[in-house]
Amino acid sequence: CGIVGYVGKRNSQNILIEGLKKLEYRGYDSAGLAVFTEEGLQIKKAKGRLVNLENKLDVEPLNGFIGIGHTRWATHGKPSDVNSHPHTDNSQKFSVVHNGIIENYVALKEELTALGHVFVSETDTEVISHLIASLYEGDIVKAVQKAVTRMHGAFALGVLTEYEPDKLVAVRYSSPLIIGVGEGENFIGSDIPAILEYTRNVYILNDGEMAVLTKDGVELMTLEGNFISRELFYVDWDI
Ligand code: GLU
Repeated sequence: CGIVGYVGKRNSQNILIEGLKKLEYRGYDSAGLAVFTEEGLQIKKAKGRLVNLENKLDVEPLNGFIGIGHTRWATHGKPSDVNSHPHTDNSQKFSVVHNGIIENYVALKEELTALGHVFVSETDTEVISHLIASLYEGDIVKAVQKAVTRMHGAFALGVLTEYEPDKLVAVRYSSPLIIGVGEGENFIGSDIPAILEYTRNVYILNDGEMAVLTKDGVELMTLEGNFISRELFYVDWDI
């Protein structure tokens, strides 16, 4: 029930974990991270408290400058390691964190299964990573835009692909998401407290909007791809 994301100049793992801790108040049953490391896109996830994930990361840290994190409140599929987010596709080149519900996931799953996609979890979310992978033609922003036209329900998303490891794509549709703007680093979060330790400059996304983050900038656009210019919101309160 919480999303965080980071792209910048610092090791992302601790920033993501600290962000998830700030979102614990939203409730969750499992947690996970995906980070672009020297070995490519790597995922670690664990059922239960964040400390279970932290224990896994103590043994095998995820070192890299771009990553996404998630705390899950299960709606489809029991709480388990495999049902935790981030989810990926069969190529393991894409990873997705999702808050919300994909109402037409059964139909999408059948369609993608017929195309040869093999699903490993019981979640609605896993269709998103497979769908994006199946629509990818060299541009992750376009693939996400195409994918969302097929999805019904509520979704806030953070998306990474190994093919474009400088980009973090974020989507808001009936589930909250904000963007934090730093210097040489940028953030996403379900809520402002997740990122307040790092920056007070925020873009609030509206429903039907998305953002493309690199370490050097943030582009805001509609889900149809029309660019949006918006004033930064300065957060003048503390947690
Ligand atoms: N529907 C998704 C799942 O059950 C996401 C739940 C959430 O918002 O944490 O995995």
